[in-house]
Amino acid sequence: MARLILKPGRERPLLQRHPWVFSGAVARVEGNPEPGATLPVVSGDGEFLGVAGWNPASQLCARIWTFADEPVDAAFFRRRLAAALALRRLEGLAPAATLAGSRAAFRLVHAEADGLPGLIADVYAGFIVLQVLTLAVEKNLPVILDTLAELLSPEGIYERSDVDLRTREGLEERTGVLRGVEPPDRVEIAEGGLRLLVDLKRGQKTGFFLDQRDNRRIVADYAERLAMQRQAEGRPSSLEILNAFSYTGGFGLAAARACPGARVVHLDASAEALALARDMAELNGLDPAGMEFLVGNAFELLRKFRDQARQFDLIVLDPPKFAASQAAVDKAARGYKDLALLGFKLLRPGGLMATFSCSGAVSPELFQKIIAGAAVDARCETQILHRLGPGPDHPLLPAFAEGEYLKGLLLRRE
Ligand code: SAH
Repeated sequence: MARLILKPGRERPLLQRHPWVFSGAVARVEGNPEPGATLPVVSGDGEFLGVAGWNPASQLCARIWTFADEPVDAAFFRRRLAAALALRRLEGLAPAATLAGSRAAFRLVHAEADGLPGLIADVYAGFIVLQVLTLAVEKNLPVILDTLAELLSPEGIYERSDVDLRTREGLEERTGVLRGVEPPDRVEIAEGGLRLLVDLKRGQKTGFFLDQRDNRRIVADYAERLAMQRQAEGRPSSLEILNAFSYTGGFGLAAARACPGARVVHLDASAEALALARDMAELNGLDPAGMEFLVGNAFELLRKFRDQARQFDLIVLDPPKFAASQAAVDKAARGYKDLALLGFKLLRPGGLMATFSCSGAVSPELFQKIIAGAAVDARCETQILHRLGPGPDHPLLPAFAEGEYLKGLLLRRE
């Protein structure tokens, strides 16, 4: 029988429940398995460690399906997918029955953290959008699709495997209908009392940044209370909000709904995303006259605001991933610092700023240090009110730091 044998002493991470094996840790592969096959992984001493999906084309050559000595078959995938769904129901995110008539949007499968490395599945109303990131998942796709169809009766399952990670697995990028009907160009979901439109076929990632759901609510709640406090103090209560790297407006729309009369500047490099933000403002009865939609480079536009001495009461900085790897961390740190420095300069005293990093290579500790440095350089006294992370539909594994990609701080300027 085929199996993967590690070099002596290289079993430690697996014993700690870290689910990855790099090619450098492999002594040899016995038998003659096909790329994408499921193999037991054993230590140099022959001790069983887990069962993995294997792809010799990738440096990250094996990802653990299970640490138990069990078959990885149709029943296994059924158990894993059913467990992922049960968890989202426990979290209050998934509908109790099928997706029929639901407007819920949530991450159903978060890869390693749901025991399904290489698979992302996001639910948007009646549709499921998949990202298939590994050959091992690709080999098991038919049973995964059957099970998802059986568990949730979606109108359609759509693939958005247009991710460059796939090239490391020797796979081509791919998109298209996998099951059922093609999603319409805009799928309506509900979040925080807003009607949101998502372009599953052409939007970024699988169409929307579901990981920021809880943070959009937290920011909106603060916006509401800040406006009330201003009013109670007899000061102008129509907040000025800067939503930088807005994508389709998520944070700014949520804040505008929470404090009517707010003036929101949405700023993004994508004109399509901002067009959708504008349509959603209208759909939700938010006054588009109170909103600016600026297409451009956030670094340049923030500098321009600084030169104009423009000030805001609430600022959100949610840039894309700056560090794709450990090697890029220094440069990324400078980017986060520049942004936060500009943010602090644009923030009124008593104002709030939510600043994020979704670079897995930048740890929460490092991110906090970067922000502390920016505050000092901006001569700004600040307090951290919340440490922010993804919602519970993006669970973390205790021994898998690579999964902790999204981190943020909600700060108040004194
Ligand atoms: N906050 C959003 C998600 C932001 S994702 C939400 O809650 O939905 C990051 C966004 O940054 C993307 O929309 C991308 O188009 C945009 N972006 C990337 N580089 C940029 C730049 N230099 N200037 C402005 N926007 C940029």
